[in-house]
Amino acid sequence: MTTHDLADLIFPNIDKTIEDYEAIYPERTLEEGAKVTRFAPSPTGFMHIGNFLSAVIDYVLAKNSNGVFYLRNEDTDKTREVENAVQSIMKILDQYHLNPEEYEYDGKTVGHYGPYIQSERKEIYHAFIKHLIEIGRAYPCFCTKETLEEQRKNQEMDKERTGYYGDYAFCRSLTIEEQIEKIKAGVPYVIRFKSSGDFEKKFLFDDLVKGRIELPENDQDVPIMKSDNQLPTYHFAHLVDDHLMRTTHVVRGEEWLSSVPLHIDLFKAFGFKPPKYIHIPLIMKKDEETGNARKISKRKDPEASMQYYEEKGYPTLAVIEAIMTIANSNYEEWHQGHPDLPFTAFPFSPKKMSSSGAYFDLEKLDNLSKNYISKLTKEEVYEQVLAWARKYDFDFAQHLEQEKERSLAIFNIEREQKKPRKDFVHWSGVKQQIAYLYDDYFFQDAKKTYQDLQDEEEESDLIEAYAKEYHPFATESEWFEHIKNFAIAHHYAPSPKMYQEDPSLYKGHVGMICEALRHIITGRRETPNLYQILNIIGPEGLMKRIQFYQNRKK
Ligand code: GLU
Repeated sequence: MTTHDLADLIFPNIDKTIEDYEAIYPERTLEEGAKVTRFAPSPTGFMHIGNFLSAVIDYVLAKNSNGVFYLRNEDTDKTREVENAVQSIMKILDQYHLNPEEYEYDGKTVGHYGPYIQSERKEIYHAFIKHLIEIGRAYPCFCTKETLEEQRKNQEMDKERTGYYGDYAFCRSLTIEEQIEKIKAGVPYVIRFKSSGDFEKKFLFDDLVKGRIELPENDQDVPIMKSDNQLPTYHFAHLVDDHLMRTTHVVRGEEWLSSVPLHIDLFKAFGFKPPKYIHIPLIMKKDEETGNARKISKRKDPEASMQYYEEKGYPTLAVIEAIMTIANSNYEEWHQGHPDLPFTAFPFSPKKMSSSGAYFDLEKLDNLSKNYISKLTKEEVYEQVLAWARKYDFDFAQHLEQEKERSLAIFNIEREQKKPRKDFVHWSGVKQQIAYLYDDYFFQDAKKTYQDLQDEEEESDLIEAYAKEYHPFATESEWFEHIKNFAIAHHYAPSPKMYQEDPSLYKGHVGMICEALRHIITGRRETPNLYQILNIIGPEGLMKRIQFYQNRKK
């Protein structure tokens, strides 16, 4: 009896060899230096910001080397699968324009290296496992859960390293005949990889972020297939896939770092060249209570989920900028120097990535977002706010649509100028900032708003007189000339300076009129440019607001 008999017994229907698969999935013909990267999420829940960081890096690496970025659905653990997780991943990639060139979704496969869903690749994995059995690098293990548990306890008691290795790898020493006999007798088994490593020996490898890493060699005979006719474990599946899909760079979380010796051991067993690894650091934040840096947590921090940014309405490019800044701290400087280039042109360097922890800060995102929004045109702001509102604030969306001209004028306040206003942080905050410029929102809230503010009773007749005279002006200076003349006619100084020189000559100065006017027509002490606000509200709106103010206590 040989390993071939054993392999045939375990996989009687597998007739393709790894050479066959090598021919089906040949080396890609890409230009020198082109990187092939993959985003390989497990569909086990919402997309975490850490996964997103790896997707962005994958995308940039592929795009700026004329390589390929593909999506692989790692769904080998069916028990942890969450409904709609794949849809939500696809949606996020699409929203952020990180679209993979190769993928499988909704019954459609794009690309020649598929299937891109692991649960559809069972036959391929089995061929590879069969090969390992044939060359004596994998074997069936019949140890029961109870035996393994007992072994673990004994190891702990004896202060030994736990696991299935060396003399503890009991089933390693079964003969082929014994193995075949047990299988034929129906004894349940898993398939284990037969490691060639020695824990006492150092294993060195170069991670592109962390540099040279020294770990003990792997000597664990890990299960690669958990039970009869099953899908393999992540360790095994990723190796087969990354090889056959001709991946050059694997970007993944640093929680996988300690598994690298095992992964390389597996690659070596097949004689394959391993990809380059980029283990990205954990995303950290400042804890609000302690002020200390800590890992961003799914449980405690809403911003750990990509859903957060969508609900808040951060522009996608601002989020990408924040992520790129985590990826390489010189990104912002580069971006300022190349404002017209897309982020994909950035020469991302794994070496410049923090190897200890990537610090993510919402304040930073807010600033990037403010800056980004300030550079958009009024039409772009309108479209993006509207898209957000259609999903999250239907009433606001209706206002935006029904009063499109007014909305555009609102978004244009202090926009088309050298230093545009930077007051919008994200779309969910916009309504609260501008609602007073729409009449019905204003009148809904005005009574309450005025209650909280000091009265402007004395000025209210004056402002009414102003409203009677007011008409739109072509320029801000014409408007200001007019209000200055209005001030003089009502015994107010046309400038604060003149007023200060001899206050006894005047009732006040033009600034005070503007302040009262601002207060009465907006209910706020601080607003953007008053001239532009008056243009939006118009003479009729102005009069209505003043009358409302005067009648509010009746
Ligand atoms: N499916 C693995 C995960 O979601 C991917 C790790 C990898 O990218 O290789 O953690």
